[in-house]
Amino acid sequence: MTTHSMQESPDAGWQFDNSYARLPEAFYVRLNPVPVRTPQLVVFNEALAGFLGLNPDALKGEEGAAVFAGNRIPEGAEPLAQAYAGHQFGFFTMLGDGRAIVLGEQITPQGERFDIQYKGSGKTPFSRNGDGRAALGPMLREYIISEALHALGIPTTRSLAVVTTGEQVLRETALEGAILTRTAASHIRVGTFEYAAARGNPDDIRTLADYTIRRHFPDQAAAGNPYLALLGAVMARQASLVARWLLVGFIHGVMNTDNMSLCGETIDYGPCAFMDAYDPDTVFSSIDHHGRYAYGRQPQIAQWNLARFAETLLPLIDEDPQEAVSMATEAISGFTDTFRRYWLAGMRAKLGLLNQEADDGALVEELLDCMHRHGADFTNTFRALASGFLPEASVFRAPDFKQWFERWQARLKRQPDAWEASRRHMNAHNPAVIPRNHRVEAALAAAVERADFTVMNKLLGFLSQPYQDPPEQDGYHLPAPPSAQPYRTFCGT
Ligand code: AMP
Ligand code: MG
Repeated sequence: MTTHSMQESPDAGWQFDNSYARLPEAFYVRLNPVPVRTPQLVVFNEALAGFLGLNPDALKGEEGAAVFAGNRIPEGAEPLAQAYAGHQFGFFTMLGDGRAIVLGEQITPQGERFDIQYKGSGKTPFSRNGDGRAALGPMLREYIISEALHALGIPTTRSLAVVTTGEQVLRETALEGAILTRTAASHIRVGTFEYAAARGNPDDIRTLADYTIRRHFPDQAAAGNPYLALLGAVMARQASLVARWLLVGFIHGVMNTDNMSLCGETIDYGPCAFMDAYDPDTVFSSIDHHGRYAYGRQPQIAQWNLARFAETLLPLIDEDPQEAVSMATEAISGFTDTFRRYWLAGMRAKLGLLNQEADDGALVEELLDCMHRHGADFTNTFRALASGFLPEASVFRAPDFKQWFERWQARLKRQPDAWEASRRHMNAHNPAVIPRNHRVEAALAAAVERADFTVMNKLLGFLSQPYQDPPEQDGYHLPAPPSAQPYRTFCGT
């Protein structure tokens, strides 16, 4: 007879190597999360845990609740709050992790490095007037939408776990407190460079730039001018990222420079949401009164943020300030073309165009204009086109839509590939399921108001396979009914 009662709990698999904690102390403050009263693990991403080299069985129960609450610090972690600055809606501010703690950098079995970060883990020296905490609803919202972006193939931070804290957070009302554990290739932001530049010590910027090159852009180290090469590489990743957002109708909602990650991941899911009917002016955020971060303005804003990044690099790019400005300006001006190339390549894929013709951009724009005029659902229009015939829905019956459809059919016939190849390509690039706003709200309401996570888990299941048609009767592919109130989102405080 064997007994397991004396067996130690299985090893959780933490494998930390904390490179950021080896940077000069100017970049962070070392401190532990503030413990919480009665942590309970309510969501746990076993697949992600496995990918990170963690042992889900060791973390599913009490151990996970304690660790993901910040009550127990795993061996090898070196918790810290990062210092950064940022332009928020265009205005410069000193910020820093006011309610987040980076636990450390987990090295995966494949040798990749990911920050493990808690969000809502208590006050830090950067909290200003905030309480350092987060409410359950917004943390679950980040979980759902970040995992949806990941499944869509878009670079993003990911969500590993959510715990409730057993403490209330005071917002307009008292809400249930929670902590999200997220992973990121890093948390180096445009705002991290702005912070270093604002301190006025050129050595800090060089240290940070060298670190960023080593961690994310090792190929640029050998360039004649590695800092100019860094700028170009960051620019290309942002252009690609924002193009991918536009191609699925995603609106980040708060593209402040502190929310732009240099490695090109989507970061900081606050007021973000997906657009239903196509309209480039779509804004969901309740605080974005002037539409600064509207769907169609995202490329311009990315370029504006990159200019703020470039300014911090000027002393490294060239000794001669004027020369540095002209080199940086030229690099940034390449954004428009680079973005357009990524976007058009993605749009060709969405329309099943497997080769290139000079008029393809115009063909896409004509479709978008049509969709705008008729209030066509962005996601479902593209998905429906893969049927190969003029879909039933009433918008497709409009004369301008019919005309466009003929033009597109003619364009398809001019390429050597068979329709079947186009159709497959379209179905792999046009999601059937996105996190529809009303579905996300329903999942959050069930979880927050009734502690019922089944709605969220069901939704997560469909979101994890966005290119599969969901069962028709469940309606996960449908936009909100026309009777729904206009959707509003809030910053995740
Ligand atoms: P965000 O809009 O989430 O990117 O946050 C902007 C800044 O406000 C960051 O420096 C956050 O750390 C800080 N912040 C947001 N919410 C809180 C809070 N409840 N307590 C302290 N700081 C916060
Ligand atoms: Mg932020």
